[in-house]
Amino acid sequence: MRYLLITLYILILTIFFSELFQIPIENSYITSSFGEYRNTGNKPHFHTGIDFSSFSKAGIPIRSIENGYVYKIWLNEPIYGNTIFIYHPSINRLSVYAHLSSFNGIVQNIVDSVKKEFGNNFAKINFPKKEIVIKKRDIIGFSGKSGEAQVPNVHFEIREIKKFGDNKIEIVEDALEYINYTDIRKKELVISKIRINNNIYNLSENVPVEIPFYLFPKIEINIFEKVGENTKIIPKRVSLKINDEMIYKIEFDKIRDDEMYSPDSIFGYGSNLYNYWVKLYSTSKITPIKINRWNEFLNFSKERNCKCQVTFDPLG
Ligand SMILES: [Zn+2]
Repeated sequence: MRYLLITLYILILTIFFSELFQIPIENSYITSSFGEYRNTGNKPHFHTGIDFSSFSKAGIPIRSIENGYVYKIWLNEPIYGNTIFIYHPSINRLSVYAHLSSFNGIVQNIVDSVKKEFGNNFAKINFPKKEIVIKKRDIIGFSGKSGEAQVPNVHFEIREIKKFGDNKIEIVEDALEYINYTDIRKKELVISKIRINNNIYNLSENVPVEIPFYLFPKIEINIFEKVGENTKIIPKRVSLKINDEMIYKIEFDKIRDDEMYSPDSIFGYGSNLYNYWVKLYSTSKITPIKINRWNEFLNFSKERNCKCQVTFDPLG
């Protein structure tokens, strides 16, 4: 009988950009990371931003991370709520601030007049280039819980606009890579369970689990990083090695806005706001799936009637 050694590598990657911006809310800390599963709002979706705590308070000032101008706003969007998009020529990116209770200055005046006419319906307002100029650290709005937010917080994104002919696609990036932020809370990676072809195996540290491998192994792991006492986030990368070969790799670095509602490509059933089952197989090709060599591997592996020895190797 052959044994396969499956190793999961979870890397916490840090990329240093030459220019790092301040967080949009002072003295705050993150409560959610990029790529998490959300079954809140109007339909399941990826969490395509970073959440900063507003200390559960509405009305805390939110500041622009850099010079730029107002690009667009959304009012009462089912997931984002009240949201402002600022375009920054210096990095050719939009910064996005969601779940606001209100905007600031001239933008709020415009919102007031739109609301008079259209009420509290979902509305999108685009602004002409360079009309409303914003300076770095200007207050652009105030924290709130509009949209899907359960408690007041600041949902923050970085987006790149890509043009394909007449079409525009916004690519949402992991905003944490643009922010000068170091978490001082204790971090701990937790992988407590693995689910293979619908059978659940409990994992305890350093104890290998033997798993039958006679079918295509639909491997899913229950995984999160615990930060401090109360925060659970998804790790940046999860990868799977079989016999020392990289078979499957997910990296939450970018998600196209038209992929936002495809979280089922990555998250298995039973996933929710607090519980992530990450699939280590897929038939889809969305951006976070970087390597998928299952077909190659299964063709190659003639002996399927074998067991897998599963170990986890968190790095970093
Ligand atoms: Zn969020």
